[in-house]
Amino acid sequence: MTMQTVGRPTRPEDVQPLDTGFASLTGGRGLLQDEALIFERDGWGKTGVDLPAADATADDLGDLVRKSPIGLPGLSEPEAMRHYVRLSQKNHAIDLALYPLGSCTMKHNPRLNEKMARLAGFADLHPMAPLPTIQGALTLMDRLSHWLKTLTGMPAVALSPKAGAHGELCGLLAIRAAHEAKGDPRRRVLVPTSAHGTNPATAAFVGYSVTEIAQTDDGRVDLADLEAKLGPDVAAIMVTNPNTCGLFERDIIEIARLTHAAGAYFYCDGANFNAIVGRVRPGDLGVDAMHINLHKTFSTPHGGGGPGAGPVVLSEALAPFAPAPWVVHGHEGLTLVEETVEEAAQAFGRMSAFHGQMGMFVRAYAYMRSHGADGLRQVAEDAVLNANYIKARLSGVMTPAFPEGPCMHEALFDDSWLEGTGVTTLDFAKAMIDEGFHPMTMYFPLVVHGAMLIEPTETESKQELDRFCEALIALAQAAKAGDVDRFKGAPYLAPMRRLDETLAARKPRLIWKPEAGVAPAPLAAE
Ligand SMILES: *Cc1c(COP(=O)(O)O)cnc(C)c1O
Repeated sequence: MTMQTVGRPTRPEDVQPLDTGFASLTGGRGLLQDEALIFERDGWGKTGVDLPAADATADDLGDLVRKSPIGLPGLSEPEAMRHYVRLSQKNHAIDLALYPLGSCTMKHNPRLNEKMARLAGFADLHPMAPLPTIQGALTLMDRLSHWLKTLTGMPAVALSPKAGAHGELCGLLAIRAAHEAKGDPRRRVLVPTSAHGTNPATAAFVGYSVTEIAQTDDGRVDLADLEAKLGPDVAAIMVTNPNTCGLFERDIIEIARLTHAAGAYFYCDGANFNAIVGRVRPGDLGVDAMHINLHKTFSTPHGGGGPGAGPVVLSEALAPFAPAPWVVHGHEGLTLVEETVEEAAQAFGRMSAFHGQMGMFVRAYAYMRSHGADGLRQVAEDAVLNANYIKARLSGVMTPAFPEGPCMHEALFDDSWLEGTGVTTLDFAKAMIDEGFHPMTMYFPLVVHGAMLIEPTETESKQELDRFCEALIALAQAAKAGDVDRFKGAPYLAPMRRLDETLAARKPRLIWKPEAGVAPAPLAAE
């Protein structure tokens, strides 16, 4: 069996727990109840609120007036609450257990951040409020900019990008504007084979063609290959440091030198800044632009489609092209440069309608201030120490992809230790779910066969790391002892078993259609 051959999700009633063969009658599992879609509940015509009937009002909709019910499910207040709490129990959460995903860094959202972000003076602002009334918010943006510039050793920062990928777009747009300003539009961007998929995608989106740079046997950029591929048509290189193999690019200064000598700019993917924050300033390495995923280094919540922030720091050469807006100190306090005229005449435009994600700025700044400069330095040290602890403990049973020397913030294993067991990386990851752990990042980076990328971050204690390592060691021993069923059918204990991930990604079912007899009949025309 290989990846994704188990097909559509099975229902909990199909689950036969490994040990007893016991399956509950309801599909519930102990105190975890099975939960249908909110629309599939028999709740039509019921409501949790008691409102007076609306006065009859004239409408201007004519023929457009809705003739069928809107189809909202009817739930009492406790039913609504329970529905969402039960759903939340089907999910893994950073507040539940260690989250070993690699290339994702932060997995802790301090409660203090949330308290700060909810202060009315930040939370209730309107982006178009008059500047004299939002001096506090502008001050916070100014202080955050100061910290980001100081930590990276770069002279300018654009706060408005909404994610790492959006930051890459911002950086490459600045690079394109800089080349165009010199009357030398270039065509190509170089990206190492181990890069995150967003790097080549961003370059292509901006209109560049992408050339891959080879990797050395020890997981770094191949300098000779880089040198051979640099040329007068290369606009930029995009290098992640530490890279997605969890390794510091030890030739980074030479990479920057070669790049600049070819007239190109050095874009650094800063997703892994967590590993070097407070210890290494990318500006000192010759970086021209770098995004900082606030959710990966400065503890703001990750994704889920929610608001994100990926500020981009820029070198002296690119600073004039930074997108509006930014905060400046004026005669009457802080103001925003909004128009691309005068001092901002070279700005390439804007990344978003307003200033960026204020709530994330507040959280990131709260995190910086609660750690202080010395604390942030220790963040990097502890993140690297924890990853090396995992690498050392698991190396007895699993095979590190790059055994030589220490790793940075994440420990990368390949699947050669599974050879002959009949168990794949995917099977192993699914079995971790049964043990109560979210799987690590798998099959990424692509340059390592059957990759398993584990990133604990600085926030895990030794006790939590030991619990995790012991679970993985026990699983690895089971795989080697031939207990293949434990893996092939896994997860046995999750609400959903194996999903057809390709189908889910390519043809997600996003629309719920009522089955006959489930939803109420259409309203009779009035
Ligand atoms: C996460 C990540 C990105 C993309 O960042 P988003 O904030 O998810 O858009 C880019 N590169 C690397 C190496 C990453 O780990």
